[in-house]
Amino acid sequence: MIQVTDLHKQFGKLEVLKGISTTVTRGEVVAVIGPSGSGKSTFLRCINLLEQPTSGTIIVDGFELTKPKANISKARQNIGMVFQQFNLFPHKSVLDNLTYAPINVLGISKDEAVKRAETLLERVGLAEKRDNYPNQLSGGQKQRVAIARALAMEPNVMLFDEPTSALDPEMVNEVLDVMKQLAESGMTMVIVTHEMGFAKEVADRVLFLDEGILMEEGSPVELFDNPKTDRAKKFLEKVL
Ligand code: ADP
Ligand code: MG
Repeated sequence: MIQVTDLHKQFGKLEVLKGISTTVTRGEVVAVIGPSGSGKSTFLRCINLLEQPTSGTIIVDGFELTKPKANISKARQNIGMVFQQFNLFPHKSVLDNLTYAPINVLGISKDEAVKRAETLLERVGLAEKRDNYPNQLSGGQKQRVAIARALAMEPNVMLFDEPTSALDPEMVNEVLDVMKQLAESGMTMVIVTHEMGFAKEVADRVLFLDEGILMEEGSPVELFDNPKTDRAKKFLEKVL
């Protein structure tokens, strides 16, 4: 589903990603962990070309995004993204947040978009909030709306960048539960997270990034219980 080959990213002279290669298979759930500043967000943002890679190739669902003249907006429709800060449209109701892109980008009918939105709001447990505005929701509710909004585009891949880091502790689980459910439904997911318990339980594979290098990858058991590199060992000692 996702194939990343020798991905490099520089911001000016700063080399943030130093040749990352990995493959994510259909239905796989991959957690990305590593110290702050190691390039996790940049890696994720390169996968849907929110950042333009300096070099390397990225193929998502058979489509090479890094090809010159690739139709990026078309490819991006297939990739949902959820951010730490929710990024909901503040002046639209919850329902309108979910229907806006399906109507205006995919061109589906309003009726169909509303039906789709209602089903998704049901699924994330927020059916009764359809007419509320984002500022009337808790952080956990906002993030569940953001997930539902991304799903409304019916993507084949979902990317999450620290989706629970901005939440009060008591709201973390309601968001993780929605993500767990999504993982069980067979969605291909790449999740940057500091929730090691969640990564251990839900991820099929864990990538440990350090200073722009994919230092280590493996099953949660391999990586958490038996890290091979000193860097991973040191990092895990601090966070586990
Ligand atoms: P992480 O998500 O692991 O904390 P990031 O990918 O956000 O790391 O950042 C990796 C490095 O790239 C950091 O040193 C950060 O300051 C730098 N960086 C990220 N985005 C930009 C940008 N748009 N311009 C310049 N430097 C950036
Ligand atoms: Mg980050």
